[in-house]
Amino acid sequence: MGVDGDGEPSLNVAMRSLSEIGGRRLPFLRWSAWRMALGMRHLTKHWQVGDGREEALARYVTDNVAAGDLDGAIEAVDRFCYERSVMMNVGDEKGRILDEAIRRAGPKRLLEVGTYCGYSALRTIRAMPADAHLYCVELSEDNAAIARRILAHAGVGDRATVVTGTLGDDHTMDELESAHSFGPGTLDFVFVDHDKAAYLPDLRRIMQRRWLRPGAVVVADNVRIPGAPEYRSYMREEQGRAWRTVEHRTHVEYQTMLRDLVLESEYLGG
Ligand code: MG
Repeated sequence: MGVDGDGEPSLNVAMRSLSEIGGRRLPFLRWSAWRMALGMRHLTKHWQVGDGREEALARYVTDNVAAGDLDGAIEAVDRFCYERSVMMNVGDEKGRILDEAIRRAGPKRLLEVGTYCGYSALRTIRAMPADAHLYCVELSEDNAAIARRILAHAGVGDRATVVTGTLGDDHTMDELESAHSFGPGTLDFVFVDHDKAAYLPDLRRIMQRRWLRPGAVVVADNVRIPGAPEYRSYMREEQGRAWRTVEHRTHVEYQTMLRDLVLESEYLGG
């Protein structure tokens, strides 16, 4: 069943106003947040909620944003998530942390692991230097297709390459090396926002291939919720050795009740 919003229209409007009491955004009063929680098994198997909201997002962006309007596309995704169906994008609040990390690093070659519908890719492209290129790895072919559509509509399809796969299958990493010139010291920036249990194993895979140059920056979303405790412990153990990490205290996307952590880690080499 395709769903464009939170459900029945008048109920949707009532729940939306209830969910913003006193200027706080409270997700438990939104049906779409419950629907996402109920779909968690589907979400962690297929990487879609299961009610068609990813496809609905792509249609919302192409129907409501002028072609080539990158800012408009980013705003439209946030509006869709506040007003219609909440989604597991990095969101506007944590997105600003990502933007600032990219602007500080000034990277030329960036890798994103876990692209979903392309929201963080849009933000990354806006923040990265004009001659930089973003490589996106997304496990779901359906999500990869949606991300490509949204990026193309925003006029930045040529600034990102969306690869379907996972760093855990080796063949995806081989493809990045053979088809996209990844190799030792070629990678300046990584954003990890995929399967939380894969954060540390995938970082180790990247380090084994020595793709990161010293000074490269890795940003990790959702370190508190859903949580990546092994990744956080590793960065704490390596503080001042292989990595220098700043923990950004923030909130889970599209609400202000649940706290989250974004880790920004500079690779010191060695
Ligand atoms: Mg995330």
